[in-house]
Amino acid sequence: MPSVDLHTHTTASDGSCTPFELVSMANQLGLVALAITDHDTIDGLSEGLQAAKQYGMEVIPGVEISTEFRDEMHILGYYIDRTSQQLQEGLIMLQEFRNERNPRIIKRLAELGVPVTMEDIEKQAGGKVIGRPHIAQALMKKGYVESVNDAFSRFLARGKVAYFPKEKLTPSQGVRLIADAGGIPVLAHPKDLKLTEWELDAVIKDLKAHGLQGIEVWYSTHTEAETTQYLKLAKKYDLAATGGSDYHGFSKPAISLGKGMGELQVDYKCVEQLKARRK
Ligand code: AMP
Ligand code: ZN
Ligand code: FE
Ligand code: FE
Repeated sequence: MPSVDLHTHTTASDGSCTPFELVSMANQLGLVALAITDHDTIDGLSEGLQAAKQYGMEVIPGVEISTEFRDEMHILGYYIDRTSQQLQEGLIMLQEFRNERNPRIIKRLAELGVPVTMEDIEKQAGGKVIGRPHIAQALMKKGYVESVNDAFSRFLARGKVAYFPKEKLTPSQGVRLIADAGGIPVLAHPKDLKLTEWELDAVIKDLKAHGLQGIEVWYSTHTEAETTQYLKLAKKYDLAATGGSDYHGFSKPAISLGKGMGELQVDYKCVEQLKARRK
Protein backbone atom coordinates (compact mmCIF):
# COMPACT_ATOMS: atom_id res chain seq x y z
CA MET A 1 0.00 0.00 0.00
CA PRO A 2 1.28 3.49 -0.83
CA SER A 3 2.02 5.86 2.05
CA VAL A 4 0.23 9.00 3.16
CA ASP A 5 0.53 11.61 5.91
CA LEU A 6 -2.73 12.83 7.40
CA HIS A 7 -1.42 15.23 10.06
CA THR A 8 0.74 18.20 9.07
CA HIS A 9 1.19 21.88 9.87
CA THR A 10 2.12 24.81 7.63
CA THR A 11 3.07 28.45 8.15
CA ALA A 12 -0.66 29.18 8.43
CA SER A 13 -0.30 27.90 12.02
CA ASP A 14 3.03 26.90 13.55
CA GLY A 15 4.72 24.86 10.84
CA SER A 16 7.80 26.11 9.03
CA CYS A 17 6.85 25.12 5.45
CA THR A 18 4.36 27.03 3.35
CA PRO A 19 1.48 24.88 2.08
CA PHE A 20 3.12 24.87 -1.34
CA GLU A 21 6.47 23.70 0.05
CA LEU A 22 4.77 21.00 2.08
CA VAL A 23 2.88 19.55 -0.90
CA SER A 24 6.04 19.69 -2.98
CA MET A 25 8.00 17.87 -0.26
CA ALA A 26 5.29 15.22 0.15
CA ASN A 27 5.31 14.68 -3.60
CA GLN A 28 9.10 14.31 -3.65
CA LEU A 29 8.93 11.78 -0.82
CA GLY A 30 6.50 9.72 -2.85
CA LEU A 31 3.51 10.17 -0.56
CA VAL A 32 0.28 9.66 -2.48
CA ALA A 33 -1.94 11.74 -0.20
CA LEU A 34 -1.42 14.52 2.30
CA ALA A 35 -3.82 16.18 4.73
CA ILE A 36 -3.08 19.72 5.84
CA THR A 37 -4.30 20.07 9.43
CA ASP A 38 -3.27 23.44 10.82
CA HIS A 39 -4.19 24.42 14.38
CA ASP A 40 -7.47 26.31 14.41
CA THR A 41 -7.16 27.68 10.88
CA ILE A 42 -7.99 26.73 7.30
CA ASP A 43 -6.03 29.61 5.79
CA GLY A 44 -3.38 27.29 4.31
CA LEU A 45 -5.85 25.10 2.44
CA SER A 46 -6.43 27.05 -0.75
CA GLU A 47 -2.68 27.27 -1.48
CA GLY A 48 -2.30 23.59 -0.57
CA LEU A 49 -5.11 22.52 -2.90
CA GLN A 50 -3.68 24.69 -5.67
CA ALA A 51 -0.30 22.98 -5.24
CA ALA A 52 -2.08 19.61 -5.25
CA LYS A 53 -3.41 20.32 -8.74
CA GLN A 54 0.02 21.36 -9.93
CA TYR A 55 1.67 18.18 -8.64
CA GLY A 56 -1.26 15.88 -9.39
CA MET A 57 -1.33 14.88 -5.75
CA GLU A 58 -4.24 14.13 -3.45
CA VAL A 59 -4.50 16.81 -0.76
CA ILE A 60 -7.23 16.52 1.87
CA PRO A 61 -8.54 19.73 3.41
CA GLY A 62 -8.24 19.43 7.18
CA VAL A 63 -7.94 21.28 10.46
CA GLU A 64 -6.87 20.50 14.05
CA ILE A 65 -9.03 22.05 16.75
CA SER A 66 -7.70 22.58 20.30
CA THR A 67 -10.23 21.79 22.99
CA GLU A 68 -10.28 21.65 26.78
CA PHE A 69 -9.71 18.30 28.47
CA ARG A 70 -7.57 18.33 31.61
CA ASP A 71 -4.83 20.04 29.61
CA GLU A 72 -5.78 19.76 25.94
CA MET A 73 -7.52 17.46 23.53
CA HIS A 74 -6.98 17.94 19.81
CA ILE A 75 -9.67 17.03 17.31
CA LEU A 76 -8.70 16.61 13.67
CA GLY A 77 -11.27 17.38 10.99
CA TYR A 78 -11.07 15.96 7.47
CA TYR A 79 -12.87 16.98 4.28
CA ILE A 80 -14.25 20.11 5.89
CA ASP A 81 -16.19 22.56 3.77
CA ARG A 82 -13.93 25.60 3.65
CA THR A 83 -16.83 27.90 2.82
CA SER A 84 -18.82 27.01 5.95
CA GLN A 85 -19.77 30.27 7.68
CA GLN A 86 -20.13 28.49 11.03
CA LEU A 87 -16.65 27.02 10.78
CA GLN A 88 -15.10 30.35 9.84
CA GLU A 89 -16.81 32.05 12.79
CA GLY A 90 -15.71 29.29 15.15
CA LEU A 91 -12.09 29.55 14.01
CA ILE A 92 -12.07 33.33 14.46
CA MET A 93 -13.24 32.78 18.03
CA LEU A 94 -10.36 30.35 18.65
CA GLN A 95 -7.88 32.90 17.27
CA GLU A 96 -9.32 35.47 19.66
CA PHE A 97 -8.79 33.11 22.60
CA ARG A 98 -5.07 33.06 21.73
CA ASN A 99 -4.94 36.80 21.16
CA GLU A 100 -6.33 37.37 24.65
CA ARG A 101 -3.62 35.26 26.23
CA ASN A 102 -0.54 36.44 24.29
CA PRO A 103 -0.19 39.90 25.97
CA ARG A 104 -0.24 38.26 29.39
CA ILE A 105 2.58 35.90 28.43
CA ILE A 106 4.58 38.79 26.96
CA LYS A 107 4.18 40.83 30.16
CA ARG A 108 5.30 37.93 32.34
CA LEU A 109 8.33 37.19 30.15
CA ALA A 110 9.41 40.83 30.51
CA GLU A 111 9.11 40.54 34.30
CA LEU A 112 11.25 37.42 34.11
CA GLY A 113 13.99 39.32 32.27
CA VAL A 114 13.46 37.72 28.85
CA PRO A 115 11.50 40.42 27.02
CA VAL A 116 10.02 39.91 23.56
CA THR A 117 7.62 42.26 21.81
CA MET A 118 4.41 41.45 19.93
CA GLU A 119 6.26 42.49 16.75
CA ASP A 120 9.03 39.93 17.48
CA ILE A 121 6.36 37.25 17.79
CA GLU A 122 4.35 38.28 14.74
CA LYS A 123 7.56 38.02 12.68
CA GLN A 124 7.68 34.29 13.55
CA ALA A 125 4.11 33.69 12.44
CA GLY A 126 3.06 33.28 8.84
CA GLY A 127 -0.66 33.69 9.43
CA LYS A 128 -3.35 34.77 11.83
CA VAL A 129 -2.84 31.97 14.36
CA ILE A 130 -0.25 33.37 16.76
CA GLY A 131 0.52 31.36 19.86
CA ARG A 132 3.12 29.86 22.13
CA PRO A 133 5.20 28.22 19.38
CA HIS A 134 5.82 31.65 17.86
CA ILE A 135 6.66 33.13 21.27
CA ALA A 136 9.10 30.23 21.72
CA GLN A 137 10.73 31.03 18.38
CA ALA A 138 11.01 34.72 19.29
CA LEU A 139 12.71 33.78 22.59
CA MET A 140 15.13 31.61 20.65
CA LYS A 141 15.89 34.36 18.14
CA LYS A 142 16.85 36.64 21.06
CA GLY A 143 19.16 33.96 22.43
CA TYR A 144 17.23 33.45 25.69
CA VAL A 145 16.58 29.77 25.00
CA GLU A 146 18.34 27.06 23.02
CA SER A 147 15.34 25.58 21.26
CA VAL A 148 11.56 25.77 21.00
CA ASN A 149 11.39 22.80 23.33
CA ASP A 150 13.65 24.61 25.82
CA ALA A 151 11.28 27.62 25.70
CA PHE A 152 8.31 25.39 26.50
CA SER A 153 10.00 23.50 29.30
CA ARG A 154 11.40 26.62 30.99
CA PHE A 155 8.62 29.16 30.41
CA LEU A 156 5.59 28.29 28.29
CA ALA A 157 4.35 24.79 29.04
CA ARG A 158 1.45 24.25 31.41
CA GLY A 159 2.58 24.87 34.98
CA LYS A 160 5.72 26.80 33.98
CA VAL A 161 6.48 30.40 35.00
CA ALA A 162 5.01 32.17 31.96
CA TYR A 163 2.05 29.84 31.41
CA PHE A 164 -1.42 31.28 31.16
CA PRO A 165 -4.45 29.17 30.32
CA LYS A 166 -6.51 30.08 27.29
CA GLU A 167 -10.21 29.77 26.80
CA LYS A 168 -11.18 26.70 24.76
CA LEU A 169 -14.09 24.84 23.30
CA THR A 170 -15.19 21.62 24.95
CA PRO A 171 -14.31 18.42 23.03
CA SER A 172 -17.94 17.93 21.98
CA GLN A 173 -18.09 21.52 20.71
CA GLY A 174 -14.91 20.85 18.71
CA VAL A 175 -16.42 17.68 17.24
CA ARG A 176 -19.61 19.55 16.36
CA LEU A 177 -17.74 22.47 14.75
CA ILE A 178 -16.11 20.00 12.35
CA ALA A 179 -19.23 17.91 11.74
CA ASP A 180 -21.35 21.01 11.09
CA ALA A 181 -18.85 21.97 8.37
CA GLY A 182 -19.39 18.56 6.74
CA GLY A 183 -16.07 17.26 8.10
CA ILE A 184 -15.07 13.97 9.70
CA PRO A 185 -13.99 14.48 13.35
CA VAL A 186 -11.07 12.32 14.49
CA LEU A 187 -9.42 12.19 17.92
CA ALA A 188 -5.78 13.28 17.47
CA HIS A 189 -2.81 11.58 19.20
CA PRO A 190 -4.75 9.82 22.00
CA LYS A 191 -1.44 9.14 23.77
CA ASP A 192 -1.21 12.83 24.70
CA LEU A 193 -4.35 12.54 26.83
CA LYS A 194 -2.30 10.41 29.27
CA LEU A 195 -5.28 8.23 30.21
CA THR A 196 -5.48 4.62 31.33
CA GLU A 197 -6.94 2.14 28.85
CA TRP A 198 -10.29 2.21 30.63
CA GLU A 199 -10.43 5.98 30.87
CA LEU A 200 -9.65 6.32 27.16
CA ASP A 201 -12.30 3.75 26.29
CA ALA A 202 -14.91 5.77 28.21
CA VAL A 203 -13.81 9.06 26.63
CA ILE A 204 -14.06 7.61 23.13
CA LYS A 205 -17.45 6.09 23.80
CA ASP A 206 -18.69 9.50 24.96
CA LEU A 207 -17.12 11.38 22.03
CA LYS A 208 -18.64 8.94 19.58
CA ALA A 209 -22.06 9.77 21.00
CA HIS A 210 -21.23 13.39 20.14
CA GLY A 211 -20.26 12.58 16.55
CA LEU A 212 -16.63 11.40 16.65
CA GLN A 213 -15.84 9.28 13.59
CA GLY A 214 -12.21 8.30 13.93
CA ILE A 215 -9.07 7.82 16.01
CA GLU A 216 -5.53 8.74 15.03
CA VAL A 217 -4.01 5.31 15.50
CA TRP A 218 -0.62 5.75 13.77
CA TYR A 219 1.38 8.70 15.11
CA SER A 220 5.04 9.66 15.48
CA THR A 221 5.24 9.02 19.22
CA HIS A 222 2.89 6.03 19.54
CA THR A 223 4.61 2.79 20.50
CA GLU A 224 3.66 -0.49 18.85
CA ALA A 225 1.63 -1.48 21.92
CA GLU A 226 -0.22 1.85 21.90
CA THR A 227 -0.91 1.57 18.18
CA THR A 228 -2.41 -1.88 18.75
CA GLN A 229 -4.50 -0.56 21.64
CA TYR A 230 -5.87 2.37 19.60
CA LEU A 231 -6.59 0.16 16.58
CA LYS A 232 -8.59 -2.17 18.82
CA LEU A 233 -10.57 0.80 20.14
CA ALA A 234 -11.27 2.00 16.59
CA LYS A 235 -12.62 -1.43 15.70
CA LYS A 236 -14.63 -1.76 18.91
CA TYR A 237 -16.43 1.55 18.33
CA ASP A 238 -16.60 1.29 14.54
CA LEU A 239 -14.39 4.34 14.01
CA ALA A 240 -12.03 5.14 11.15
CA ALA A 241 -8.36 4.47 11.95
CA THR A 242 -6.14 7.29 10.66
CA GLY A 243 -2.52 8.28 10.99
CA GLY A 244 -0.05 11.08 10.51
CA SER A 245 3.29 12.46 11.60
CA ASP A 246 2.29 15.90 13.00
CA TYR A 247 5.08 17.35 10.91
CA HIS A 248 5.90 20.94 11.95
CA GLY A 249 9.38 21.37 10.44
CA PHE A 250 11.71 23.56 12.46
CA SER A 251 9.81 23.67 15.78
CA LYS A 252 9.69 19.85 16.10
CA PRO A 253 12.95 18.86 14.44
CA ALA A 254 12.74 15.18 15.45
CA ILE A 255 9.64 14.61 13.29
CA SER A 256 9.92 14.03 9.54
CA LEU A 257 7.14 14.30 7.00
CA GLY A 258 5.59 10.89 6.32
CA LYS A 259 8.15 9.05 8.45
CA GLY A 260 7.61 10.60 11.89
CA MET A 261 10.56 9.61 14.09
CA GLY A 262 11.66 7.12 11.45
CA GLU A 263 9.36 4.13 11.86
CA LEU A 264 6.01 5.67 10.93
CA GLN A 265 4.16 4.35 7.91
CA VAL A 266 0.59 5.34 7.23
CA ASP A 267 -1.33 3.41 4.64
CA TYR A 268 -3.61 4.78 1.91
CA LYS A 269 -6.24 2.54 3.54
CA CYS A 270 -6.73 5.33 6.08
CA VAL A 271 -7.82 7.70 3.31
CA GLU A 272 -10.24 5.08 2.01
CA GLN A 273 -11.75 4.75 5.49
CA LEU A 274 -12.25 8.51 5.68
CA LYS A 275 -13.77 8.62 2.20
CA ALA A 276 -16.22 5.86 3.12
CA ARG A 277 -17.53 8.13 5.89
CA ARG A 278 -18.03 11.21 3.73
CA LYS A 279 -21.67 12.10 3.37
P1 AMP B 1 -0.92 27.34 21.80
O1 AMP B 1 -1.86 26.89 20.75
O2 AMP B 1 -0.50 28.76 21.63
O3 AMP B 1 -1.40 27.01 23.18
O4 AMP B 1 0.39 26.44 21.57
C1 AMP B 1 0.26 25.04 21.58
C2 AMP B 1 1.07 24.40 20.48
O5 AMP B 1 2.44 24.53 20.78
C3 AMP B 1 0.85 22.92 20.36
O6 AMP B 1 -0.24 22.59 19.57
C4 AMP B 1 2.15 22.43 19.76
O7 AMP B 1 2.12 22.48 18.35
C5 AMP B 1 3.15 23.42 20.27
N1 AMP B 1 3.98 22.86 21.35
C6 AMP B 1 3.59 22.51 22.60
N2 AMP B 1 4.64 22.02 23.32
C7 AMP B 1 5.72 22.08 22.50
C8 AMP B 1 7.10 21.72 22.63
N3 AMP B 1 7.61 21.24 23.78
N4 AMP B 1 7.91 21.91 21.55
C9 AMP B 1 7.42 22.40 20.41
N5 AMP B 1 6.13 22.75 20.22
C10 AMP B 1 5.29 22.60 21.24
ZN1 ZN C 1 1.59 22.84 16.42
FE1 FE D 1 -2.09 18.16 18.16
FE1 FE E 1 -0.79 18.73 15.13
